[in-house]
Amino acid sequence: MPLYEYYCQRCNSVFEALRPIEEAALPVPCPACGRQAQRMMSSFMALTYRDGYARRIPDKGTYWHLGKEVKARPKRMRHHEHPELAEPRPVKRPAKGERAEQKERAVEEGEERNYRKKWSARGRS
Ligand SMILES: [Zn+2]
Repeated sequence: MPLYEYYCQRCNSVFEALRPIEEAALPVPCPACGRQAQRMMSSFMALTYRDGYARRIPDKGTYWHLGKEVKARPKRMRHHEHPELAEPRPVKRPAKGERAEQKERAVEEGEERNYRKKWSARGRS
């Protein structure tokens, strides 16, 4: 597991925690006060890791960015996206038919929720 840095506002201190990559963005309780501490996002070093995988042999001299292998540390990033990994993401606008479908689905889901609420309420009494 890679090592991540977290910052506790109350203690004004930084601590490190080993976390699975998928949970790196989640807050971690501060070891000193127990308050939820946010992951440090202020530097690229906090996002791009090498040390976490230092024992991997052979070391190809590559870096790890959010769990993906990259050749260099990012110089500029948008939304924590490494330029080597970034893909063009077109803005998806639902087509007319799709939008109607979505609305229908939302209505169905709402009805189902009401139905479940009704029956679970009855079941309890
Ligand atoms: Zn603290």
